[in-house]
Amino acid sequence: MSAGFIPYGRQSIDDADIAAVVEVLRSDWLTQGPTIDRFERSVAEYTGAHHACAVANATAALHIACLALEVGPGKRLWTSPNTFLASANCGRYCGAEVDFVDIDPRSYNLSVARLEEKLARAAGENRLPHVLVTVDFAGQPCEADRIAALCLQYGVRIVDDASHAIGATWKGERVGSGRWADITVFSFHPVKILTTGEGGIALTNDAELHRRLAMLRTHGMVRDAGHLERKDEGAWYYEQQALGFNYRLTDLQAALGLSQMRRIDAFLAARRRLAARYDRLLASSGLTLPSQHPDALSSYHLYPIQVPDPGLRRAVFEGLRAAGIGVQVHYIPVHLQPYYRRLGFRQGDFPAAEAYYERAISLPMYATLTDAQQDFVVEQLLRLLRA
Ligand SMILES: *Cc1c(COP(=O)(O)O)cnc(C)c1O
Repeated sequence: MSAGFIPYGRQSIDDADIAAVVEVLRSDWLTQGPTIDRFERSVAEYTGAHHACAVANATAALHIACLALEVGPGKRLWTSPNTFLASANCGRYCGAEVDFVDIDPRSYNLSVARLEEKLARAAGENRLPHVLVTVDFAGQPCEADRIAALCLQYGVRIVDDASHAIGATWKGERVGSGRWADITVFSFHPVKILTTGEGGIALTNDAELHRRLAMLRTHGMVRDAGHLERKDEGAWYYEQQALGFNYRLTDLQAALGLSQMRRIDAFLAARRRLAARYDRLLASSGLTLPSQHPDALSSYHLYPIQVPDPGLRRAVFEGLRAAGIGVQVHYIPVHLQPYYRRLGFRQGDFPAAEAYYERAISLPMYATLTDAQQDFVVEQLLRLLRA
């Protein structure tokens, strides 16, 4: 990284994190071992979930979440178009048909009104989805209780892709508690709230779903005597009962995650303070700032702004990059990707997500961003808006 470059997101690693990883390096277990259990318990306790299954990345977690819920050929998965590719791809990995529900132009999360209309129409046509993947965009929870009530009414299961949202709350309840989703997924990629290098986790309150997640993480293998199809074969015996994968996280990564979990409240406090500071410094800028639902407390993985006019976006983006500020755009609507266009999606299918995208820029947001760096970002942004 060149001196002075300000990325849009980055990890915060301290000496305790490094010592925790080194300690595992000197131990007997490098791959999935006792530190995985401790990390899983730590995340489960923090969120209030009953069970946790740590895996190689959030994409893997979404994949096995779909399989555990029996997503497959002939079934449908719906998600938000304003998300990272993986929220939709997980359905395609399982051979399911993927469709999208347009976003709310204020929260940028899946619109409950659009969902309600689309479910009613799909029920009439006998084309209801099997699973809805909700996304807590930028760290702001979706309207989880209303979505859960609709999905219950239509018999749709919920996977919450909360890759942005560890530590966020909806109506005072932490994302991942399992109150409103069958399975919740977090990502521990370095740009997210906390990191394990690469890593992800699937949380659930359903013991049977957890058993399937753990089996799919390791090749579909079962060793637990209570669940073997053939008993009394011997102590060496295991069975492959499903087509699983090697999606394991290592103990090295879990040690980093466990150490980072000790600072999660500090990470969240820093992000929330920076968000409030952006809100204040940009209040009269003419930009559209990320509006917050009164029932949501965001974890602020991202701070997405919208420039006043789509025609300004490119110049502002490139001007910020030229000033050494690593802005990004989250997200190119997934249905407009060539892969999804080839499946039949078109420009105009989800107009709110498309309109948001055309004006969107994500400003730098991470726990160690300094006030001076943030002031510089704001100053450059205001300069480019005046130009
Ligand atoms: C980062 C991200 C993912 C994928 O996470 P990985 O851990 O990199 O696989 C999935 N969904 C969303 C919304 C993300 O932001």
